[in-house]
Parts: sequence; structure tokens; C-alpha cells
Amino acid sequence: METMQQWVESLERRARARLGIGRVADYIPALAEQDPDRFGIALCSNQGAIYHAGEAQTPFSIQSIAKVLLLTLALRVQGDALWTRVGRNPSGMPFNSLAQLEAEGGKPRNPFINAGAIAVTDRLVGAFATPSKHLRDVARRLSGNPKIHIDENVQASEWQHRARNAAMAYLMQAFGHLDNDVDTVLQTYFSCCALSMSCVDLARAFNFLAAEGHALSLGERFVSPDLARRINALLFTCGMYDAAGDFAYRTGLPAKSGVGGGIVAIVPGRFSICAWSPALDERGNSVAAQHVLELLADDLGRWSRAIPSDSMTIMNI
Ligand code: GLU
Repeated sequence: METMQQWVESLERRARARLGIGRVADYIPALAEQDPDRFGIALCSNQGAIYHAGEAQTPFSIQSIAKVLLLTLALRVQGDALWTRVGRNPSGMPFNSLAQLEAEGGKPRNPFINAGAIAVTDRLVGAFATPSKHLRDVARRLSGNPKIHIDENVQASEWQHRARNAAMAYLMQAFGHLDNDVDTVLQTYFSCCALSMSCVDLARAFNFLAAEGHALSLGERFVSPDLARRINALLFTCGMYDAAGDFAYRTGLPAKSGVGGGIVAIVPGRFSICAWSPALDERGNSVAAQHVLELLADDLGRWSRAIPSDSMTIMNI
């Protein structure tokens, strides 16, 4: 039987066939400069072992993946009170749509569309003196990498092209659903999206969702098992833009993608994965990263059918 490292390498090799398909995000000019053919994958087991292949140690812009950290921090601070400001259902609309927000009285459908993440950020602006630094420090501690930083070039580019996000924030303010200064909330949101992390960093940082809330790098629980399960449920239903249903059908895995080309996926009870390749499909999800996760899910399904469940340790994970 192949080792975990050989498996991850073979996944990376097989998924390379999809490079060259899709387009890098260009609505944030700083992201348009990315090379579409970059590709990496990292897997972090619940025992803390890391397996990776391709450009898994190259930092990239995590973009919407930051929304998971924003949500986690807000739930830790506010608990269920957060749900008065944001819903928990798939939107069925593009991630930056204004129409639904207007129709639904300024309460965003879920925390992973832009309006929802901006509403969540507003809660954090009210709770922390420097929320983006706090979030960056949490990312550093969860991943065990003190060098993680906010890419100021990406942040400035997002700020310069903020019109749509600003429109959502003002609309929520008009409905009385945003408490803090719009510019401060937007600056904070863009700083968090502009965090630069590698596949290895992200696989480590999000392992707590695979491990019932226990964060290996902290040596303690980061969230309760119930909260980890609930966050995974939101990833599963809302994490892949308006292709969440398709992706869930193809992989069965909770996942969150970002327009930088990264996707974090969770195999609860076993491991966390991050795959990255900047070229996106028309719904904003990385083509090669989705494909490698689909191959991974297929392999896992085949193995669990082939191996009796009491001897799963043979897979060394
Ligand atoms: N910072 C990006 C925006 O607000 C996030 C986009 C994304 O990755 O979905 O447009």
C-alpha cells in the first residue's frame, strides 16, 4: 500500500491535467498578476503529520477563506447572538450580490457571502481594538507560522476597488444592521482577506475543524466540538459560492474556497486539506484545487469500502 506522502503526490500529479483551464480573478487587480499554473496541496492529519506536494509552501492570498476565521472568532466572542445579524442558509446568488440583501432587509443570507462576512467583521470591530491584527495573530498561532502577514498590496487593491463591498456595507447600515464606521469595517475585512498563507499553513490552521475543535498547535480546544460541527455544516452548505451543492455532491466534504485559488476542505475526525491553484471556473472556485479534492474524496470512498473500518489505521492517518 502506498504511504500517505505517496498518495498526496499522486493526487497532485493526477490533478495537474486540469492546469490551463479557467481564469485568475481579475476584479481585484493585485490578484490578476498571479501565474495560473501554480499548484499545491497539503494535508494535515489529526495527529499533526503534514503531507504535501507541489507548491504547498508558497504563500498566496487567502481571500474568502478568511471568512471562516472571522466567523469562528465572532462565534467565540458573541455566541448565538451573531445570528441576529446574519443567516445560515445558502444564498443561491453570487457572493457579491446586492439584490438579495436589499430584498431581505439588510440581513445577509450567510457568513460566507461578502455581505455576511462584512456583517461578521462589524461584530469583531466592536469587540477588538485591532481586529485584523488579532485575526492575523490567531492565524499565526493556529498554523504555527509566526511569519504570516497581511499583503498590503492586495489590501490596497481591494480598498481601491471597494465600490461593491462598500455598497453592501452602506445598505446594511441603512437597515440598521451595521454598528461601526463603514470604512473601518471595510478596511478590517480587506486586511483579513489579504492574509498571505501557504497550503501547509492553511491545512494546519484549519485542522481544529477536523479534530472536534482541538487545535494541535495550541495544544488545547479552540472551539467546542458542537461549534466545530456547526461551522463544518456552514462550510458544507455555503462554502463554495453558488456551487456549494455541486461540490458537496461530488466530494461530500465541508470546504471553503477563495478567489485567490485556495480551497480548504475537512475530513471530520481525520484530517484537513488545503489545495491551491489560481485559475478559477465561472463560479469563482479553483479548477485544479476542486479537481484534486474530488480525486481525494473518490480515493477515500474506495479505501473505506475496501478496508474494514476497524483497520483504518492502515492508512496511517
Ligand atoms: N476580498 C474579496 C472580496 O471581498 C473576497 C472574495 C472571495 O474570495 O470570495 O471581494
